[in-house]
Amino acid sequence: MKRVAILGAGYGGVEAAKQLSKMFKKPSEVEITLYDRNPFHTLMTELHEVAGGRCQPESVQVTLEKIFGGTKVGVVIDTIKDISFATNTLKGEEATYQYDYLVLGPGAEPEYFGIKGAKEHSLALWSFNDALRLRRHIEDQFLKASREPNTLRRRKILTLTVAGAGFTGIEMLGELLEWKKPLCHRYGIDENDVSVVLVEAMTEILPLLPKKLRTDSLRFLARKGAVMYLNTPITEVRADGITVKSGATIDTETLIWTCGVRGPEFASKLDFTGGKDSGKPAATEEETNLKYNIVKKARLRSNEFMQSVEFDNVYLVGDVLWFSERSRVLPQVVETALQTAGYAAHNIHAEIHGKTKKAFRSNYHGYMVSIGSKFAVAHVLGMELTGFVAMAMKHLVNLHYLWGVVGVNGCWEYLQHHFFTVKDGRSQLGNQLAAKSPSYWMLPVRLALGLMWLGESVAKVLEGWLDASRGTSSSWMFSPGVVQPGVDPDTVGAATEAAKAVKVHDFLGFMAQPILPHDFFLVQWMQGFMDSVVSQVPFMLLQVPVVAVEGLMGLALLGGTFTWLAAVASLALSLNFVVSGTLTWNSAWMLFASVSLMGGAGRVLGLDAWIMPWLQRWWSRTQLAKKTYWYLGDARKRK
Ligand code: NAD
Repeated sequence: MKRVAILGAGYGGVEAAKQLSKMFKKPSEVEITLYDRNPFHTLMTELHEVAGGRCQPESVQVTLEKIFGGTKVGVVIDTIKDISFATNTLKGEEATYQYDYLVLGPGAEPEYFGIKGAKEHSLALWSFNDALRLRRHIEDQFLKASREPNTLRRRKILTLTVAGAGFTGIEMLGELLEWKKPLCHRYGIDENDVSVVLVEAMTEILPLLPKKLRTDSLRFLARKGAVMYLNTPITEVRADGITVKSGATIDTETLIWTCGVRGPEFASKLDFTGGKDSGKPAATEEETNLKYNIVKKARLRSNEFMQSVEFDNVYLVGDVLWFSERSRVLPQVVETALQTAGYAAHNIHAEIHGKTKKAFRSNYHGYMVSIGSKFAVAHVLGMELTGFVAMAMKHLVNLHYLWGVVGVNGCWEYLQHHFFTVKDGRSQLGNQLAAKSPSYWMLPVRLALGLMWLGESVAKVLEGWLDASRGTSSSWMFSPGVVQPGVDPDTVGAATEAAKAVKVHDFLGFMAQPILPHDFFLVQWMQGFMDSVVSQVPFMLLQVPVVAVEGLMGLALLGGTFTWLAAVASLALSLNFVVSGTLTWNSAWMLFASVSLMGGAGRVLGLDAWIMPWLQRWWSRTQLAKKTYWYLGDARKRK
């Protein structure tokens, strides 16, 4: 059995592991193991949302157990310190691990270009911890400022500076511009005391985007109050400010460094010699680039099969890889990570099965940049999009990614984090989906519906439904004027007649009409079905279960026990009455109440408060839940 090790649970590592697990169908063929220091995969493209206080930290974490629990991929949490390519060994802090094939995806680190004080005195945004640190720092600055009586000192504390106008810098800038208002409100600070500043070395922002999108972004940022210094390279960073090339200084205690990335230090220390500085001067521009990036930026060179140029059994994926496709080096973006991982997985499979390897061909779709929660620019498939549509596109792309990684559960959590649980209206739809009302407001509805079904069951018994001598009768079962949920049997026929008499204007009469009239085709079909099929069903199998189900539903709702199930049954039965032409408008509330009760209404003064968490934990541990990603509740509490 071949051992495939994957180092790094970033976009590349996770994709490679998923693809390999799909390609090797037989469990005995390979052993696939993913190594990472964290037990979760970080959604790096959303880090600014956590750092900028828009989303909660867990919104960018997807636990590896959740992703791989139902697959043959083993997950090992350890920090790998070194790799011996001679003995095919990963050396971790906890143990050493053997491999036959290695997929190397250790990601990237911020680049400081040797600028004095930059590393020591700035805050980066390139990991989960960075985002948390930055978020806390900004909140601390507002707290500190709220206690500072001196206006000048307060303004310095509240000068938030972003260095670099690439994607990371602009996305962070957008969050700060949006977050400052709620922060000022919370800490009692005048918004005019806050400055959100951008410092960029080049004359343009977002250089990878077309001119129109750059201009739209610039205009939007200016409108939101950003102070932008372009063509202003930073030359020195101190704890209390920065100096730029002209010699001017900016007082700031918050410098967010997003001036580019390089391969990780870990990669620069690896025992790679291929592609490293041979001592000979570079002859071509490409060679110069190569030397610069391999040696100084710690990126490792691969061939077109994503194999390291030095070790055939080592595949490179994502930011660490240096591969020049048609004289263009692959950019360090998510699409590169996903696509190189796909090729690496395919080629490892091909090699083990003695098949032909596939040479890399990129297929980029474009870039999307959010500037706050409501505005974005996107250059996708040749289209230039701005504003609401671009933002919607970004959400769709994120959902698509999550669907592939953790299925429906991941998508639901994404919607929760980005729409249902946001604060201060910081979602594309503002507060529209975020308002919460506590479950105890649903208690009266639950009790009303419960009483209704219990009463209905009792009424059926009193009406003689359990009288076996009456036999099974489909028309008797659903015909109006006999027993209908919520409708007095004696008044229906009369009310229907009255409604006819006073025509449509008579609101009360209208309310007593069935939702679907008797001549409606569905009602006709249902009546036919009841007459021909259901009436053949023995008494015990029809009337008794119906009475029992109604009674149980009533009791379940009253006791808040399996409320979700009872609400679904209530909806199904009510719909059945609609289709049978017997549910009247004045009982239509049952349909809506049933839907409303599905959101955890049994957890207030009900047994569901205990039953549901237990059931969710039990279910989420099953193989079926893991394989289908239908986890319920908070998966982190599944152990
Ligand atoms: P970047 O390299 O894209 O941009 C860095 C910016 O910093 C440049 O504009 C550069 O001119 C500026 N800069 C460099 N040195 C400076 C100095 N001394 N003073 C002032 N400005 C200076 O870096 P990034 O935005 O961190 O992105 C890193 C990688 O991640 C990129 O490949 C990027 O495409 C990718 N990324 C993509 C997305 C997305 O697709 N939405 C989001 C974030 C990052």
